[in-house]
Amino acid sequence: MNTVLPDPGLPAEMAAALAARREQVAAALRHVLPSGAILSAPEDTRPYECDGLAAYRQLPMIVVLPDSEAQIVAVLGVCRELNVPVVPRGAGTGLSGGAMPIADGVVLSTARLNRIVRMDAYSRTAVVQPGVRNLAISEAAAQHRLYYAPDPSSQIACTIGGNVAENSGGVHCLKYGLTVHNVLRVRMVTIDGDVVELGGDALDAPGLDLLSVFIGSEGMLGIVTEVTVKLVPKPATARVIMASFDEVVAGCEAVAALIAAGIIPAGLEMMDQTSSRMVEPFVQAGYDTDAAAILLCEADGTAEEVEEEIARMSAVLQTAGASAIAVSQSEAERLKFWSGRKNAFPAAGRISPDYYCMDGTIPRKRLGEVLTGIARMESKYGLRCANVFHAGDGNLHPLILFNANIPDEFERAEAFGAEILALCVAVGGTITGEHGVGIEKIDSMCVQFAPSELAAFFSVKRAFDPAGLLNPDKAIPTLNRCAEFGKMRVSGGALPFAHLPRF
Ligand SMILES: Cc1cc2nc3c(=O)[nH]c(=O)nc-3n(C[C@H](O)[C@H](O)[C@H](O)COP(=O)(O)OP(=O)(O)OC[C@H]3O[C@@H](n4cnc5c(N)ncnc54)[C@H](O)[C@@H]3O)c2cc1C
Repeated sequence: MNTVLPDPGLPAEMAAALAARREQVAAALRHVLPSGAILSAPEDTRPYECDGLAAYRQLPMIVVLPDSEAQIVAVLGVCRELNVPVVPRGAGTGLSGGAMPIADGVVLSTARLNRIVRMDAYSRTAVVQPGVRNLAISEAAAQHRLYYAPDPSSQIACTIGGNVAENSGGVHCLKYGLTVHNVLRVRMVTIDGDVVELGGDALDAPGLDLLSVFIGSEGMLGIVTEVTVKLVPKPATARVIMASFDEVVAGCEAVAALIAAGIIPAGLEMMDQTSSRMVEPFVQAGYDTDAAAILLCEADGTAEEVEEEIARMSAVLQTAGASAIAVSQSEAERLKFWSGRKNAFPAAGRISPDYYCMDGTIPRKRLGEVLTGIARMESKYGLRCANVFHAGDGNLHPLILFNANIPDEFERAEAFGAEILALCVAVGGTITGEHGVGIEKIDSMCVQFAPSELAAFFSVKRAFDPAGLLNPDKAIPTLNRCAEFGKMRVSGGALPFAHLPRF
């Protein structure tokens, strides 16, 4: 399964050049960082060789662990001076290879910038350093009965810096918005060493909306050093419906019917039978494992609001053909229903040695058609696929199950994933909902965007980072790469990644 980039057997000459380069860069970094903040021995840098997309690995040349914005400015100064690529890294939970190192690059970890700087219950905001974990913000805000709404399933580990870079979403984003809707201000350092503040404390900042350009830019425009997030009041109460469907397509139509009825649930998630059966023995969430699909629909607010919305949702679900409806009767049961959904990705390990998590977004009304298409692809590629996803947002997460020890299974899983994304684009959707492009979907960008659009993206990148040192070779494919990809698509081959040392 591990694709080591570049080839593990570097020619002796190149290995020697890399070692010399490592020493040169480390020596320069020692002038600006304490020695404990610089890792260069392979046994120390190994834990950074991949992110959550563990199929791709690359040992970085050096890892740095700055503990202040001033140290980040200094590190970027060294890298700029010596022309060294820099890969920012939060917790490394990303699923598209965004934090995957570059052979001759520096990984800049924000792990030591993990302080909540200020919590302001009056303005309902928190100012946090980039390495603060998503869940830690809500835990700290709980004393004021507030929380931070975007809740990726990885929230126990992932950082706010990574959330900003990926514009992360989660179960509650249908009602409360993605990261971009919940961040007021980002402070960041450009590769030139300038400290820039985007956005502001008010809802609308003057000038061009560069905050929106920056959020979701996958570490390619600057290093986040501080984030001001919005906090929202914890709802007085919440309850969740589990609705069963005998047909996946009927479940999909129920999703569209709920929204069409003018209901915006606090969460609207779907799991097909493969998913509920892989999760249930692991979490005992009480899922209906006989159903072809289950929907989890949450209502939150005052007790009266919740009761009314649960009744309205139940009526719509019944009309849409639900074969059974269960409503959580206590907070413990509500959390149990969600715990199955939140643990779905790890549960895949129970039924398959490996899985490949895709992330595409489609118009809600096309859900049924796309899931039927994915079922057809299971036969075509001879691989199973579990579907567990943010149905209300139309954000699919097909988990393609494979065994990397069987020759060509990973390649088939990759081709399967690429075809799913092409189908998402064909029905008017996009190749990513929240996990980003990284290296994983870089070729699918050629399917989604015309050369002129990719050129426009490069212009934005160059405006922030003229030398292309921040997270290069991620997210935006070169036009040459797209041309090669076009040829490969015709011949049915796969395009190898080519991250070769640039010194
Ligand atoms: C089990 C599991 C469940 C998940 N569920 C969800 C989900 O529900 N929703 C969702 O959106 N995602 C989900 N993810 C994906 C992942 O957790 C998110 O993308 C998350 O935002 C990554 O945060 P991180 O701190 O781990 O960032 P990393 O993986 O370290 O980095 C992600 C990207 O951000 C960049 N970056 C990191 N820090 C900075 C910084 N300070 N400045 C600039 N760039 C930076 C990196 O270069 C990289 O491109 C899941 C992942 C796992 C493993």
